[in-house]
Amino acid sequence: MSPDLGAEVTRLREQVATLHGELVRYNLVAWTAGNVSARVPGADLMVIKPSGVSYDDLRPDNMIVCDLDGAVVEGDLSPSSDTAAHAYVYRAMPEVGGVVHTHSSYATAWAACGESIPCHLTAQADEFGGEIPVGPFALIGGDDIGKGIVATLSGHRSPAVLMRNHGVFTIGRDARAAVKAAVMCEDVARTAHLARTLGRPVPMAREDIDSLYDRYQNVYGQPGVPSATP
Ligand SMILES: [Zn+2]
Repeated sequence: MSPDLGAEVTRLREQVATLHGELVRYNLVAWTAGNVSARVPGADLMVIKPSGVSYDDLRPDNMIVCDLDGAVVEGDLSPSSDTAAHAYVYRAMPEVGGVVHTHSSYATAWAACGESIPCHLTAQADEFGGEIPVGPFALIGGDDIGKGIVATLSGHRSPAVLMRNHGVFTIGRDARAAVKAAVMCEDVARTAHLARTLGRPVPMAREDIDSLYDRYQNVYGQPGVPSATP
């Protein structure tokens, strides 16, 4: 590994370890479920969480470096059991730099019902540009989960997919953007559930959703700071 590549891997080990703390902070994970990965720019590598390690014990030096077939390149522990799904997404979607998986309660309840989350909120229009779609049921292990994620999100505005009977996968231009999408997905899933228990959510016009999405993705935030990946 060249010195430049080594420095990049070191940076991403720190970032990915820190971002796992965000999953805990936003109450998106229980026990050791959930995982974050980051693509290593310029190399066919990714940095991902080790399997079955407590969130309290995750550190930069126990993150696992894998190639994009899921084989371990650096690390003493086994990588996350969802490594094949992350690797499949990186192989199929070159624009993706980060992937997150959680079983966050409200979003996963929608996944359990096999129901996409309709867009009834400006916050959802901003981040997701419309509905948050449901992906197919797929067993863990092979490429089926990755195929389902890619088939659902390719050409879709949403960076989140609710994999049926399972949970949430999100993508982003980097790992931080994917974590943000996971946090926002749970937030809108919760509000959508509450709205439905209160009554009948009011549909939004397609052009309003489009306008909100365009503004948030291209104008919102501080000058020079991309809003989608703050
Ligand atoms: Zn899972």
